[in-house]
Amino acid sequence: MLGQMMQQPLLISAQIAHAARYHHDTEIVSVETSGGKHRTTYGEVERRSRKLASALLDLGLEAGDRVATLAWNNYRHLEIYFGVSGAGLVCHTINPRLFADQLVYIINHAQDRVLFVDKTFLPIVQGIRDRLEHLEHLILLSAEDADASEALPGIGFYDELVERGSEDYVWPTFDENTASSLCYTSGTTGNPKGALYSHRSTVLHSLAIALPDSMCLSARDCMMPVVPMFHVNAWGIPYAAAMMGCKLVLPGPNLDGVSLKNLINGEQVTIAAGVPTLWQGLISALKESGETVPSLNRTVIGGSACPPWMIESLYRDYGVETLHAWGMTELSPVGSVNTLLHKHSRLSEDEQLVMRRGQGRPPFGIDLKIMDDQGNDLPRDGQAQGDLYAKGHWVINGYFDVADAPPHRDGWFPTGDVAVIDADGYVTIKDRSKDIIKSGGEWISSVELESLAAGFEGIADAAVIAAKHPKWDERPLLIVVPEASSTLTEDDVMALFEGKVASWQKPDAVIFVEALPRNATGKIRKNQLREIYEDYLLKGDAS
Ligand code: ADP
Repeated sequence: MLGQMMQQPLLISAQIAHAARYHHDTEIVSVETSGGKHRTTYGEVERRSRKLASALLDLGLEAGDRVATLAWNNYRHLEIYFGVSGAGLVCHTINPRLFADQLVYIINHAQDRVLFVDKTFLPIVQGIRDRLEHLEHLILLSAEDADASEALPGIGFYDELVERGSEDYVWPTFDENTASSLCYTSGTTGNPKGALYSHRSTVLHSLAIALPDSMCLSARDCMMPVVPMFHVNAWGIPYAAAMMGCKLVLPGPNLDGVSLKNLINGEQVTIAAGVPTLWQGLISALKESGETVPSLNRTVIGGSACPPWMIESLYRDYGVETLHAWGMTELSPVGSVNTLLHKHSRLSEDEQLVMRRGQGRPPFGIDLKIMDDQGNDLPRDGQAQGDLYAKGHWVINGYFDVADAPPHRDGWFPTGDVAVIDADGYVTIKDRSKDIIKSGGEWISSVELESLAAGFEGIADAAVIAAKHPKWDERPLLIVVPEASSTLTEDDVMALFEGKVASWQKPDAVIFVEALPRNATGKIRKNQLREIYEDYLLKGDAS
């Protein structure tokens, strides 16, 4: 027997329409690319995103066409999120930190017809414009700008485009499985691959990340996504924030600790989200100035493993709860978030902080499991380590427009991570499967060693890679960036691991460098480090 309830497609336009109706004067504060703060409201964002939608359709765009952005987190980018997807077009956010060749590949592969660009990134576009095969409209995210017109003749201006749109445009209704947005993985090897999200997957993901055991978003929150809107849709926060009516603070181009501290305190931010290095900057800025962040009660940290010292410092020094989250582009991105259960209230504060270190549990809508090489399920016992697989409403079914068969195994998506899952479903990510160190019969997590090393006094940054070893096949090699004032020697660093890890897990050697190579999403380029250092232990007298 069928139920007798209304059938309404889950559409992104409904999120902003809800925000405009029920949170019309809730503020959206952005830091402009040109400096200075801009204030608008959900009511205004909805009105302008409808005008943008109608103006884009007037340009001749048709359902499913891709519209790209190279932009910071700001209100114009937010209007594009809703205007483009709401009109039935596909919003393709691009990471400006990619190399020129990768940008050209992505823009051509997606067949982007329109590219919106912040002034900061104009030089990048100038360098590649001739190679963009499908691009018809290049539009600067600003009012008219004579310098830009001179540099790139024919460039359009966002504010003018919106002005041309119709106030009377009404959001169209269509199938909820229609494509809404497109993100490419940064890909350390091979060409980047696209994850094409749908309206349905986006709305369900928004609901899931807003839940109490995820980000616990509400209309009493002021949310600051520091994670860029070009990095997996700022983890889906703009959509969820509109749905819940959170005040939004969009930090623009300056993501240093001092700017973030000033924004948090100036706008009374209650929750912020970003990768660990951002919070390192914030904590340093707070230490330096002696200030605190009284309004901030929680931060979502993910993208790479959050070091335990950061969780402790945020909590003990600033009263900020860390929500350690794990995810990936292919999962929209949220796969798990770490919050505690009722039974954990019996634990001491120290024990609770230890519980917080892992990557948490999946919200309803995602299922996770670990398998061995042969595809056998491994137990959820907190001990067995295996390849992590995911399934759910916002997990990709295949990559966008590629000939290869999807990498799935029995309908489960292989995440490429190695993990442990305990009986309550708490996941601990041990490593990327290609980064884990296979020493004799044992596996050593590079992530654990890096997190420890980065927490030591005198060490600013750390990476651990598998170096070839004549006896053990692979052994951990630690590469550190010392703080400017540090006088640490290799022996000093090795001594720091004493009592912290089993002796066979300690790195075999320490290399000091000035900086670590990072990819476009801020992750350490381990393949590059491996190319340089993988023979390091073979050269010496390693035994
Ligand atoms: P890309 O795959 O393009 O580098 P993603 O943002 O999709 O970018 O990266 C996803 C990967 O980042 C995950 O598979 C995992 O290895 C890593 N990652 C994300 N969050 C965490 C976390 N909290 N702890 C450890 N690793 C993480």
